[in-house]
Amino acid sequence: MSADAFSLAKERFFRYTEKMGLDRRFPGQSMPEHLTEPDRSVEVRISLKRDDGSVQVCRGYRVQFNDDRGPYKGGIRFHPVVDLAEVKALAFWMYMKTAVVDIPFGGAKGGVAVDYPALSLAEKERLTKRYATVLVDELGSERDIPAPDVNTSAREMAWIMDVWRLIHGRYQRGIVTGKPVAMGGSLGRETATGRGVVFAIEEAAKQIRLDLRGATAAIQGFGNVGSSTARFLAEAGVRVTAVSDVAGAVRDPRGLDIAALRRHAAETGGVAGFPGGEPLDREDLFAEPVDILVPAALEHAITENNAGRIRARLIAEGANGPTTSEAAHILQQRGVTVIPDILCNAGGVTVSYFEWVQNRQEFYWTAEKVDAELRQVMARASREVFAEAARHDCCLREAAYRIAIERVATAAAARGVQ
Ligand code: GLU
Repeated sequence: MSADAFSLAKERFFRYTEKMGLDRRFPGQSMPEHLTEPDRSVEVRISLKRDDGSVQVCRGYRVQFNDDRGPYKGGIRFHPVVDLAEVKALAFWMYMKTAVVDIPFGGAKGGVAVDYPALSLAEKERLTKRYATVLVDELGSERDIPAPDVNTSAREMAWIMDVWRLIHGRYQRGIVTGKPVAMGGSLGRETATGRGVVFAIEEAAKQIRLDLRGATAAIQGFGNVGSSTARFLAEAGVRVTAVSDVAGAVRDPRGLDIAALRRHAAETGGVAGFPGGEPLDREDLFAEPVDILVPAALEHAITENNAGRIRARLIAEGANGPTTSEAAHILQQRGVTVIPDILCNAGGVTVSYFEWVQNRQEFYWTAEKVDAELRQVMARASREVFAEAARHDCCLREAAYRIAIERVATAAAARGVQ
């Protein structure tokens, strides 16, 4: 049996903690174990009443990984492959991510194993509200704050907020982030992950001397992250020449019209059949002759099977965990620069933090202020990661983990054990 996502994430983590001498530096504190043992994992039954009156029983999860640096924070995904090990891995990456960009949160993640897009709107609302009702005691603006993830959006956050308000009898805006602007959401939150990916690419491009004007990119995944990354890359002068999603892929070496592609995907449900490009095999997207490759879908997209075919100089991990350890090793040997997920896609949770701040103050920022603050956070974190990589002569992933581990271990040690 192949190891699950969480065991693999831990293995990688222990390699870093060992190199950092964490045990020696925090003697007798079992620090590597403290940092990799989730605080709380909740697994629940979610019974969904279908429109035809039948009941579908699904598994739901919320993993609160660590709150040494602040309240638990992380998205909720509704997808058939969701299981406890995956949610644990995602929750673990969340708390590494909040530490890399140095925002005052811990990490969590939730999900339900269900084919969510196949449900009717009424079924979607019932499922989301059932999930929120079952887990309502876990949530709170100073306890655990959900946000959108795969197949969830502002709509689901509004439903969760409604459940919390009905049960607790009061309005608490900071209970979720990524909610509709009309309910206290932040401007710029919906596109924040893609915006942050492009800020991270801009910083990395300076470091590796890649001129973005006229550079080319391929994007795997055209959901929230992939489509907004495509849009902002195009705005930065990058030619996006290939895009794929769950059902198909398209290419145009002269550069796809991203606004038209977004409209096509919104109308038809995907990129396949886009008249402004030629069809492409989804797996061949990885071998496109581009400067930048952005995996922006699910875990384990780049494996030992396709890493050797990649021709990009720069990989920007818009998704969480898109590159396996074997693939990372191949890419490093081939001199490909990889902006690791816990840095690259941290723009989403960073603007979630801005939303939470605005909710606490009941004072709302302009879209320009959100973008300017986000740019600062992403640029500073990117520079820190590049400097750490130079200091230790290591890859950017190891550098990002070193920074995150240092921050979480310092907080954990300061808090003490009782
Ligand atoms: N789901 C996003 C992520 O994986 C955002 C989480 C958040 O904003 O809390 O980073």
